[in-house]
Amino acid sequence: MTATSALLPTYARAPLAFERGEGAWLVTERGERYLDFGAGIAVNALGHAHPHLVEALTTQAQKLWHTSNLFQIPEGERLGQRLVDATFADVVFFANSGAEANEAAIKMARKYHAVGGHPERYRIVTFEGAFHGRTLATIAAGGQQKYIDGFGPKVEGFDQVPVGDFEALEAVIGPETAALMIEPIQGEGGLRLIPGETLRRLRALCDAHGLLLIMDEVQTGVGRTGKFFAHEWSGVTPDIMSAAKGIGGGFPLGVCLATREAARGMVAGTHGTTFGGNPLAMAVGNAVLDVVLGDGFLAHVERMGLLLTQKLAGLVDRHPHVFVELRGQGLMRGLKLNLPNTEFAAAARARHLLVIPAGDNVVRLLPPLIVGEAEVDEAVTRLEAAATDLEAQMRGAA
Ligand SMILES: *Cc1c(COP(=O)(O)O)cnc(C)c1O
Repeated sequence: MTATSALLPTYARAPLAFERGEGAWLVTERGERYLDFGAGIAVNALGHAHPHLVEALTTQAQKLWHTSNLFQIPEGERLGQRLVDATFADVVFFANSGAEANEAAIKMARKYHAVGGHPERYRIVTFEGAFHGRTLATIAAGGQQKYIDGFGPKVEGFDQVPVGDFEALEAVIGPETAALMIEPIQGEGGLRLIPGETLRRLRALCDAHGLLLIMDEVQTGVGRTGKFFAHEWSGVTPDIMSAAKGIGGGFPLGVCLATREAARGMVAGTHGTTFGGNPLAMAVGNAVLDVVLGDGFLAHVERMGLLLTQKLAGLVDRHPHVFVELRGQGLMRGLKLNLPNTEFAAAARARHLLVIPAGDNVVRLLPPLIVGEAEVDEAVTRLEAAATDLEAQMRGAA
């Protein structure tokens, strides 16, 4: 945090550190409480220090942390089966992050065609505003020049088109195309919701051209929108899907899910990871599912999402100089701003509310899914205070 920090300065960190957390709240060393509507970028799905997760982690920690994937991992078998039972998927691969889950998805899509006799079909179409991670392949998939520049030749095989431009999409699909890859709601890109109708047309195009449909649900998944996975709202199912962020509730965990058909090329030796799916991660992942798939939990998320939506719609109406519009779905909301999003995030922080900047000058609200009505009220009160503070500054400057 100081000028002499030993950490590589790749982040613009806020001048703020926390000592502990309780549910939707983070607490500094001096006991100052912040309402956390960022949840570690949609990671702390069950808030901070959830008793069931703490219990699962500490119990497992006393038994076994890591064995490698050279051995059976029963907790992983169990988590995999539960994910399969709750989704379109037949098989899963555990990794440690979203980018790694996407790497597995990309490799799987290419291998699917290679073992089908078409190794030339390796190109993947992605969409403007996408974010798929920071590895060399996933920055190429995301297509954001600022993440690509200076890191040598861009990984080959990604074509990008604007969302909803079907003419451009059909033009770019060729004999080398393997798959389409899309986030049901673009997170980092600015909370752009992909309409169900668009997803249905993408599915139909994939079917017509023999392409695989990859959904990146790293941010949208694990209950964030009120369904287990966001694509369920559209009725469309992918062939391959990545998840991460919320699935470990704060423990690093990613997963690539697929139909057996899509995964047909991923036989022994084709892919691997040292840490992925270790007993500690699997114990926590199972504990997260105990809660998220428990009775009434997703209905609670949907209810809180509706409440937040109503309150934010009113807020946006009352402060047209600050807010442009409300975006997103469920507990994955964005406010597009008339002033720099980093300035708004700082104003909210001054009111002890944490929100997260995203692309397209948006701030994201990603509260823990366990958030209650009183906390939703409190967050909107603090957003209102931040907006009022900024309006007073604007008047002062004018
Ligand atoms: C965060 C994110 C990723 C990357 O996840 P990491 O765990 O940071 O590698 C990929 N895709 C989407 C949609 C994300 O939001």
